[in-house]
Amino acid sequence: MIEIKNVSKVYPGKPPIHALKDINLTIDKGSIFGIIGFSGAGKSTLIRCLNRLEEPTEGTIHLNGLDLMSLNEKELRKTRRKIGMIFQHFNLLSAKTVFDNIAMPLYLEGKKKKDVQAKVKELIEFVGLTGKENVYPGHLSGGQKQRVGIARALVTDPDLLLCDEATSALDPETTKNVLELLRKVNKSYNLTIVLITHEMSVIRDLCDKVAVIDNGEIVEEGTVYEVFTNP
Ligand code: ADP
Ligand code: ADP
Repeated sequence: MIEIKNVSKVYPGKPPIHALKDINLTIDKGSIFGIIGFSGAGKSTLIRCLNRLEEPTEGTIHLNGLDLMSLNEKELRKTRRKIGMIFQHFNLLSAKTVFDNIAMPLYLEGKKKKDVQAKVKELIEFVGLTGKENVYPGHLSGGQKQRVGIARALVTDPDLLLCDEATSALDPETTKNVLELLRKVNKSYNLTIVLITHEMSVIRDLCDKVAVIDNGEIVEEGTVYEVFTNP
């Protein structure tokens, strides 16, 4: 599904920063893959390469056989529609209702409100926010905001969901509930999930496989059991 080969990223500067060093990873379709590391390890840079918000300096990334680096602007826009992303600070529009936040990716494709109604309603139900359609984000709890973020990420029927520290701003109980929802997303839609986190518990509770990144390098990789069970 995702094939990352010899990916390196250097941010120019004095001195240049080698954020990623010869990264090789294969991520299976339908799996939940976690990338864990300390702050500054290169997690954000790596996950941002997967939707080309960041361009690797070297190497290739294939998504379902498609060479991500070879895409022109138009192809990239089309591919990005199939990659959902959720964020630590949710990135919701505060002046838009829950309904409109979730519908936004479809409005941006030029779809009208009446045409997106059924899809948005289905997702609001799926994430457990029925009744909150007309509420503004300022009146939601952190967990509810992330549920809106998840619904918005799913509204274009993506092939891949990227999670950038998705539970880092949430308390332990809310984190548990959001992780449970992500597991349900994975199972219901057979959706591949790639997440970055600095929290071991997120990896343990959710992921099938894990890569440990340190100073731009993958230092361990395998099933969660293999990596976190000492021989
Ligand atoms: P993490 O997500 O694990 O905290 P990052 O990918 O954000 O790590 O950062 C990896 C390294 O690259 C850090 O040294 C960081 O300061 C640097 N870095 C990240 N983004 C940029 C950028 N846009 N320009 C220059 N350096 C950057
Ligand atoms: P995180 O650790 O959660 O990735 P950061 O505060 O390190 O968050 O980075 C926030 C943003 O700033 C990211 O978009 C990252 O790419 C950028 N950034 C990080 N380090 C640098 C840097 N040294 N120079 C320029 N931009 C950076």
